[in-house]
Amino acid sequence: MATQGTVTFNRDICKGCGLCVTACATHLLVLDESEINRKGYHPVMITDPARCNGCANCALMCPDQGITVTQDRIAREGVVRGGAVRERVAGRQLVHA
Ligand code: SF4
Ligand code: SF4
Repeated sequence: MATQGTVTFNRDICKGCGLCVTACATHLLVLDESEINRKGYHPVMITDPARCNGCANCALMCPDQGITVTQDRIAREGVVRGGAVRERVAGRQLVHA
């Protein structure tokens, strides 16, 4: 069974320290230089959400508890017409809030 993560950021409290960027082994996080938040920093963003595995390393590193991670267990249920694999969410858990 595969896992898929969903990460959300409180971009208003992010201070752009980059600790979460460094912590993501999949290199999915960057500071969003197109935006400046209320505190005057470039907040973090995720570049390719579909590749997040829900490990929560980013959330553990954030000194301001600005990241929430949930993890879905994805069940693959066989090949359907056209060769695509049917998938469904078999369970969801909050990994870090
Ligand atoms: S949960 Fe893991 S894979 Fe997803 S963005 Fe955070 S560190 Fe990267
Ligand atoms: S660790 Fe927290 S404060 Fe630092 S860049 Fe990431 S979300 Fe922002």
